[in-house]
Amino acid sequence: MEPIYTDVCIVGGGPAGMALALELAKRNIRTVVLEQSKNYNRSFRGEFVSPDSVYILDRLGILKKVNQHGLFHTRNFEVVENDQTVLDVNFTNFQYGYRYPIELPQPILLEAIVEEASYYKNFQLLRGTLCNELIREGETIVGVKCHTSEGELEVYANLTVGSDGRFSRVRELAEIEYQKIPLERDFAWFKLPLPDNWSKNTCRVKIRGGSHAIILPTHPQMLRVGLNIPKGSIQKLKKKGIEYLHQMVTQLEPTLEQSVKEHIKTWSDTSILEIFTTVVPTWYRDGLVLMGDAAHTLSPILGQGVNHAIIDAITLAPIAAKAIKNNPDTPVSAEILQEFQTLRQKDIQAVRRLQLRQEKMFSASSSLLTYLRRTFYRTVNSSNWLKEKIWKPVFYKNQAQHLMG
Ligand SMILES: Cc1cc2nc3c(=O)[nH]c(=O)nc-3n(C[C@H](O)[C@H](O)[C@H](O)COP(=O)(O)OP(=O)(O)OC[C@H]3O[C@@H](n4cnc5c(N)ncnc54)[C@H](O)[C@@H]3O)c2cc1C
Repeated sequence: MEPIYTDVCIVGGGPAGMALALELAKRNIRTVVLEQSKNYNRSFRGEFVSPDSVYILDRLGILKKVNQHGLFHTRNFEVVENDQTVLDVNFTNFQYGYRYPIELPQPILLEAIVEEASYYKNFQLLRGTLCNELIREGETIVGVKCHTSEGELEVYANLTVGSDGRFSRVRELAEIEYQKIPLERDFAWFKLPLPDNWSKNTCRVKIRGGSHAIILPTHPQMLRVGLNIPKGSIQKLKKKGIEYLHQMVTQLEPTLEQSVKEHIKTWSDTSILEIFTTVVPTWYRDGLVLMGDAAHTLSPILGQGVNHAIIDAITLAPIAAKAIKNNPDTPVSAEILQEFQTLRQKDIQAVRRLQLRQEKMFSASSSLLTYLRRTFYRTVNSSNWLKEKIWKPVFYKNQAQHLMG
């Protein structure tokens, strides 16, 4: 195949890569996205989108498009321990323009971004294209080699972006060091029909001892359930049969007993998410940068993966565009890309710290620790000031700072 010469080559068309492509195309930068899958029907992925990203999606011109699907806005977040509500956060009480998280299935999000990006002639999306090698000139990365159904393809670019997710191949190919920190448990995700008497606007964490499940109403008329399972235990659990999952769900949420038995017949009706966080000390090389999950895989707590993927995109786009406009014939240097990591790193570290603390609280099972956990949630529950202090940096930071101007 004829090689492609472009300004930016983005490997991975998830929320990070697609949002970056849109932002670059708007800035008149030639952008090619390489995505291995042929359609949007990706495996189970992040759907809970933080208010800050809802705000950003509106500024990007995407929110109207996705809202046409009649998505659910989360107005309440509840923690229910042993059938008692120990924490109830009502987002209506927070005085921000975009108060509510939304449950936004990724195919709807990605389709909307691609539709918007396709208005720009500089945007090109190549589906069914698997990147499997980097092209180097000395130490500098100048593009990628990939496999397509029509043959091998080379794409040359001033900047190669690895937005290829939590198991990033680009990160491996670039020999970028990282540390994968396993967390205390993994998750089994599955979907059930939304029960008639279930509020569409309440996201609930149900806890009993060291077990918990996250239950989120989602489009279209479904419940998305994330059930925590002991770390690395999936093979053992599978041997116990799917009845074991039915029991765990019923213990946590008895009203779902019939539904889970009816709709989750085998373990293949679930999607297992190995929970880990990845720390990548340096996100860039000369000519290459990582973003989204490839640069910082987060845990599912408070649904921050999509949020930070999108914030990465709007942060990187102006830096990359300026560098390419100033020096159209030169690969973007590590020095310039360092600015991107510096701008993003503090927030990522703060979210990771918060998630690790929460993770420990959720997995506490001794009576002392569960008592302390309950006391903590009840204390937070009694104070709107404390609620805002906890949620503001996670959900509302960009609105507070007017990041997009
Ligand atoms: C089960 C589950 C539930 C989750 N729930 C939530 C949630 O509720 N809220 C939330 O915010 N986050 C959640 N997350 C995390 C969220 O999905 C990610 O943080 C987010 O999708 C990261 O976006 P990304 O673009 O960086 O990577 P991804 O979404 O992983 O996209 C990477 C893309 O790269 C492509 N790719 C990979 N390798 C190559 C290659 N070599 N060549 C070409 N293409 C390639 C992949 O096909 C994929 O499309 C969840 C994740 C899972 C697995």
